[in-house]
Amino acid sequence: MNNTDKIYNLAVSGVQKLIPYTPGKPIEELERELGLSNIIKLASNENPLGPGKKALAAIQATLKDLALYPDGNGFNLKSALAEKYAVDMSQITLGNGSNEILELVARAFLTPGLEVVFSQHAFAVYPIVTQAVGATAVVAPALNYGHDLDAMLQRVTDKTRLVFIANPNNPTGTLLNHADLEAFIGALPDTCVCVLDEAYCEFVGGQSEDNSIAWLKKYPNLLITRTFSKAYGLAGLRIGYGLSSPQLADILNRVRQPFNNNMLALAAAEAALTDVEHLQNTITVNAQGMQFITEGFKNLGLGWIPSAGNFVLVDLKQPAMPTYEALLRKGVIVRPVGVYELPNHLRITIGTQAENQLFLQALTEVLGRIGSLPIATLPPSLAVAG
Ligand SMILES: *Cc1c(COP(=O)(O)O)cnc(C)c1O
Repeated sequence: MNNTDKIYNLAVSGVQKLIPYTPGKPIEELERELGLSNIIKLASNENPLGPGKKALAAIQATLKDLALYPDGNGFNLKSALAEKYAVDMSQITLGNGSNEILELVARAFLTPGLEVVFSQHAFAVYPIVTQAVGATAVVAPALNYGHDLDAMLQRVTDKTRLVFIANPNNPTGTLLNHADLEAFIGALPDTCVCVLDEAYCEFVGGQSEDNSIAWLKKYPNLLITRTFSKAYGLAGLRIGYGLSSPQLADILNRVRQPFNNNMLALAAAEAALTDVEHLQNTITVNAQGMQFITEGFKNLGLGWIPSAGNFVLVDLKQPAMPTYEALLRKGVIVRPVGVYELPNHLRITIGTQAENQLFLQALTEVLGRIGSLPIATLPPSLAVAG
């Protein structure tokens, strides 16, 4: 270690051992590396339809105010969310993406010596926020690629201060049954905060979006996190939120930066909540794309993990990196998931019909197999080019 490297010894011990999050490869980066154009990115579970018109109009109308600080309490967005979910505004915490909420809860509740339980193959941010504050991660083995709630509960001790659950889970797309999930939350000791990460809840359908909200009345230690990054198509603005008891929200607000949400994000998110049509289109395109892509996998003789989100893990039954790299050379960015202990899988975000077709063609060529591609099933109005 040379002199300049000595600074690493000064970082707190959790940070010294921290391996940063690896995001999906940006389109511009691949453009620079390979000199390709027409790249498609199906790597970060972004909305392939882009932001909605109402969100864009709200951003436009807000630009003139950019010299001012944003509303640090996010009054308008919180009011809209409170109305949508029939909760009190005091139950809402706004975050710079829901990732920030995950970080706030770790900072507010964890110290070295305390433990955090989450599942194998669960979202990569959980180990990162745990380690950054020097707490101990306790990883429960997965069951059929999803959360094994019994195995998780068995690992909860009086030292466990946090439990993270992603439902649907990223990257596996697995979904827990609501009765099982509630039983799990109810069985946790009241010394343990349960974070229910619902970044993809809009894609699930049914009563799913409302079920967990009803639990807030019963469990003051429950924190639900949601985001505008996925179904609402605003990943670039960084805005998400937590729903909890007012007391838990008060604690999170103490460690939150005063202006953590920028003005454009606040305005766009509020408008996005009213854009029911864009959300519905998004959900429809996703459902049809999911069917199209998984049919493509079937034709190629590939397995996949059934997903409740806007992405799917395909099982290549061999190390996935060569296929990932070969797809990159064809201008298709997907996501390797080796860091999730899934070295033979790739995660594919469902795109537009055109993107899904390009992806399947590229995959077919890369795997050197002849598969008959399913015929497009989308109505022309929804077949938006990427
Ligand atoms: C994408 C994602 C998030 C958060 O994304 P933000 O853009 O920070 O809101 C949180 N949890 C899971 C499981 C995700 O996949």
